[in-house]
Amino acid sequence: MSENLLLFGPPGVGKGTQAVRLAGVFQIPHIATGDMLRAAIQSYTPVGQRAKEFIDKGQLVPDQVVLALIAERLAHSDTARGFLLDGFPRTVPQAEALGGMLSGTGKKLDHVLVLHAPDEELVSRIAGRRICESCQASYHVTAKPPKKPGVCDRCGGMLIQRSDDSESIIRNRLREFAAKTKPVIDYFLANGWPVRKIDANGNMDQIFGRIYAAVLLP
Ligand code: ADP
Repeated sequence: MSENLLLFGPPGVGKGTQAVRLAGVFQIPHIATGDMLRAAIQSYTPVGQRAKEFIDKGQLVPDQVVLALIAERLAHSDTARGFLLDGFPRTVPQAEALGGMLSGTGKKLDHVLVLHAPDEELVSRIAGRRICESCQASYHVTAKPPKKPGVCDRCGGMLIQRSDDSESIIRNRLREFAAKTKPVIDYFLANGWPVRKIDANGNMDQIFGRIYAAVLLP
């Protein structure tokens, strides 16, 4: 089954964790702008150097930078059988540009999954998040601990805290979300994109169950 999916929601709501599972179930590429930007930072590319200034302050990276990455990624042939966008679009101009890219290729989104949870819950999820330095797998100190403390179950890499996951930076990211990203929901609704609101409280399996049920709806 080919599905074009978009996972939308504030930092810490669990988009990344759910996206990996969803992309696995539907066998579609998981396209996460945050992961792409961190990969660019690790490889010291000019895009990475530009992005790092913003990410380290908890600010959004400029639209042109992100749009260039996405346009290139969506042009890959592996997206022909579907794709899952995670963390993009994050501004109204990004959503407009995505609309243009999709209509230009005769594609549309099948489901726009909007995850929501209270701010205090988001802060505690992000503060406890640890990621693998090598493969980027995501853990949580209490909700999803690795089998061996500090070591990635998947590849044996070292688990670290992302530099933008400290409490002061998290607050900035939530402010950016409220000011620039939340209005994108109105854009989706005004343009008839297929929005499904998902309650992201509860454990990861419960949340996945809600997402899966929403995707199976016509
Ligand atoms: P989270 O959803 O937890 O904030 P991400 O990995 O998706 O984590 O994003 C980390 C950071 O990367 C963001 O705070 C932002 O600076 C940058 N970023 C990711 N995606 C975008 C985007 N679409 N537009 C602008 N900046 C982005």
